[in-house]
Amino acid sequence: MTPKTKLTRRSPKAERAPEIHRRLLATYPDAHCALNFTNPYQLIVATILSAQCTDKRVNMVTPELFRRYPTTKELSVAEPSQLEDIIKSTGFFRAKTKSLLGMAAGVEERHGGRIPADMDALVALPGVGRKTANVVLGNAFQIDVGVVVDTHVGRVSQRLALTRQTDPVKIEQDLMKLFPRDGWTMLSHLFIEHGRQICDARKPKCEACPLADLCPSARIPEIQRPAARTRK
Ligand code: SF4
Repeated sequence: MTPKTKLTRRSPKAERAPEIHRRLLATYPDAHCALNFTNPYQLIVATILSAQCTDKRVNMVTPELFRRYPTTKELSVAEPSQLEDIIKSTGFFRAKTKSLLGMAAGVEERHGGRIPADMDALVALPGVGRKTANVVLGNAFQIDVGVVVDTHVGRVSQRLALTRQTDPVKIEQDLMKLFPRDGWTMLSHLFIEHGRQICDARKPKCEACPLADLCPSARIPEIQRPAARTRK
């Protein structure tokens, strides 16, 4: 059990953030990017495919994709229908095919086939948004430029009252103010892991949560409101 410090349940978020961070690190020391990759090219492709799709599904598709198209050179001249066939099961396959072809052509033309380690250069590529660029910079280049906000990160941040925002870009801005820059990439993995294992979207396991005493949304018997306690 993680040792807990004395903090009031509704202390300001800036006061709670370091302890939340410490406990998540202690609870999920091995948290990491769930997409399989061995280089920046593979990660940018996998991240584009992960939109509206599980990482598990993406990991089932990418071995064949990387075998057929090992670099942006091969991917940039791929036959769209063949690429669509490979990635079909990840959903939105026509849009993703367009993004993959555009990204690969952009990397070939502007960067000599090397994925750029720069936010501005990455988001200038077709099909690459800030979230994808954050994932690539943080996990393939170990450069912390932002916090990746997916559905888990957004939900956990809101429940912990670290943000009132619903827009991922605004949630990211709030988190960047609360947590140290050199921990931003890992922070996202920690929140995702916590969202998957404990802070479930529909049934959060608050009684087993190491953050319960720091969380204004905790649903545990001793903090239920009287009205809730008497309801049948
Ligand atoms: S106490 Fe409940 S709502 Fe709060 S972070 Fe933990 S599981 Fe989520």
